[in-house]
Amino acid sequence: MKYFIHTFGCQANERDSELIAGMLKEMDYEATRDEQEADLILFNTCCVREKAENKVFSRIGELKELKIKKPHLIIGVSGCMVQQDKMPARIRRRAPHVDLIFGTHNIHELPHLIQNIQLLHTPQVQVLPERSGIIEGLPSQRQIPFKALVNITYGCNNFCTYCIVPYVRGREKSRQSEDILREITGLAQDGVMEVTLLGQNVNSYGKDFTPAATFADLLAEVNNIEGVRRIRYLTSHPRDFDDSLLRRITGFEKVCRHFHLPVQSGSDRTLQRMNRGYTREYYNGLCRKIRRLFPAASLTTDIIVGFPGETQEDFQDTLDLLKKTRFDMAFTFIYSPRSGTPASKMPDQLSASVKKTRLQQLMALQNQISLEINQALQGQVLTVLVEGVSKTSEHTLTGRTDSNKTVLFRGPRELTGQFAEVKITDPQTWVLKGKLL
Ligand code: SF4
Repeated sequence: MKYFIHTFGCQANERDSELIAGMLKEMDYEATRDEQEADLILFNTCCVREKAENKVFSRIGELKELKIKKPHLIIGVSGCMVQQDKMPARIRRRAPHVDLIFGTHNIHELPHLIQNIQLLHTPQVQVLPERSGIIEGLPSQRQIPFKALVNITYGCNNFCTYCIVPYVRGREKSRQSEDILREITGLAQDGVMEVTLLGQNVNSYGKDFTPAATFADLLAEVNNIEGVRRIRYLTSHPRDFDDSLLRRITGFEKVCRHFHLPVQSGSDRTLQRMNRGYTREYYNGLCRKIRRLFPAASLTTDIIVGFPGETQEDFQDTLDLLKKTRFDMAFTFIYSPRSGTPASKMPDQLSASVKKTRLQQLMALQNQISLEINQALQGQVLTVLVEGVSKTSEHTLTGRTDSNKTVLFRGPRELTGQFAEVKITDPQTWVLKGKLL
């Protein structure tokens, strides 16, 4: 039996897909790259943007004919999209050929649901509103043997007014540090050199424990694990990135010098209406501290343009923040209303054309800044963890620096999974091209 998983959205979903793949492997399924020969096709979905949701519906629609040709084919939908109110019924109505629907809180039930479909020949829909507890010890199939994603928290308590995540992923729950450390120790013994700690708001790790634990303490423990060479984490909330965490990181040599701090807007008025819990002044101060403590670090961000009621002046504030902070890279998004969130009901929703124009302006400015920052790396020798052959040329290897920059260079594919020294000869906006030393 063969399976094909489509994964949409963030790294939490990528990690869930790895666990799903692990469970399928234990059920004697093997992965295929050809959807047509699959016996199980799963859409692990995201609902952060409407576009991704529409894409899922259209891809599922295209599978109708394949299901008629292969009636034993199981078509499943999982992930954030199905956690939305009334969504499972909507999927079944729009796509009756879908036979499997399960949510983010019960992926461990997958084997049981598949067995039910095979034995009872009836569709299985199982979605829970909240995570009852954290299930440990699920099998997993990693995408890259030497890199691993590790969940440290699930859910979010922040309720940013544009975001649907707290409604679909539930309230924040931290994993016990013993479970996290046991998992990472096992990964390191299995050859993993780089771990990425995952959570919607990693900085608030352990606040739900009594007595509370801290993210800094967890980082300290992971930093001590033999075999782990690099530690990354996603996502940080600027409000919770306090001085003590910054100071502690200076002593953790394995924690990568890359700070991804989603600012979302440079306007105090918009930040307040987004319920982000910080001001532009606070955010700038945090970036200044990072630059002072970690001069070689890279700083990246996420920005939403066209939030309801965003005036030209608010947008100018965001452009101004970009010019002053000079991020290495910014992931820019057009605001997309999600039903059920406060922002979707706010007056003054902006037209698509205004949002698009602002996005283009923002991207043009950021691209210029990214290029200038990367050009300053011309001639420098950087250490990269080689990830494999690049997507564009089989003669080119791709790797990442500690600061999370992508480096492309010619070299033998046997270097995959090793550290290499590369001299930067052609820095570009998105990548650094170089020569293997
Ligand atoms: S911090 Fe805000 S944007 Fe991030 S997941 Fe939580 S509610 Fe959504």
